[in-house]
Amino acid sequence: MNKKAWGILFGLVFLNLVSWAVVLHFSHNYLEVVFFDVGQGDAIFIETPFKHQILIDGGPDRERIIEKLVEEMPFWDRTIDLIVLTHLEEDHITGLLQVLKEYEVKNVLWSGLGENEEWEILLKEEGARILRGSRLSASDVFFEILNPLSGESENMNDSSIVLKMTYGNNSFLFTGDISSRKENEVAVDVDVLKVAHHGSKYSTSSEFLEKTSPRVAVIQVGKNSYGHPTEEVLTRLENFGIKTLRNDIVGDVKIVSDGRNLKIITKKKDI
Ligand SMILES: [Zn+2]
Repeated sequence: MNKKAWGILFGLVFLNLVSWAVVLHFSHNYLEVVFFDVGQGDAIFIETPFKHQILIDGGPDRERIIEKLVEEMPFWDRTIDLIVLTHLEEDHITGLLQVLKEYEVKNVLWSGLGENEEWEILLKEEGARILRGSRLSASDVFFEILNPLSGESENMNDSSIVLKMTYGNNSFLFTGDISSRKENEVAVDVDVLKVAHHGSKYSTSSEFLEKTSPRVAVIQVGKNSYGHPTEEVLTRLENFGIKTLRNDIVGDVKIVSDGRNLKIITKKKDI
């Protein structure tokens, strides 16, 4: 090898080391939350700084959730640490059924309320641990389960699992499809709010927005015949000066936290 070739090789090795240093640095500091654009439904992928992977709901389409996961996860990684099913409605559970078929799921959090035969069969086959309790943690990311607190079934939407997630000084509230009545019981101060029930006017009251005071709100919504998101909710969010992102307009919404600051990334532009 001549001098020039050695120089190029050294340069490549050096670049490789630099890129690994960047990867390692990145992987140890950031929490990533991706609100997938899966049409009319919810699907939220969380990767903790120590690479724990969590999926909250799977959206209404079996193929689409897999496509989204393939984009976010390395191809060799076929394991998800935790899936959360907020409630049994089609626009939340359908994608999770396919995820259970295609991935190894270690833990499942769901309320146990309601019935879905395929879900029950797949859970049995999977042999995943069913989590109970009111608190969870994945290394330095903490979850509080705010709803449902009793085992009693109200209406299906109000039985949604509501999670507050905290990393350092940053916090997120995942609300499933709860209505304003339930929101009043679970209101806590957060930075990022997953708007409940795709922007239905029966959720996201002004009172709730005052108590939660989010800086950012994400509406998981696609084409639908319900009029979601409603003008009422969009106006309330605007009145509080909350930066609002809709999956039907900006596509996937990724929010990256270092425990102090939030960075919002969409395919269209960084905000
Ligand atoms: Zn829904």
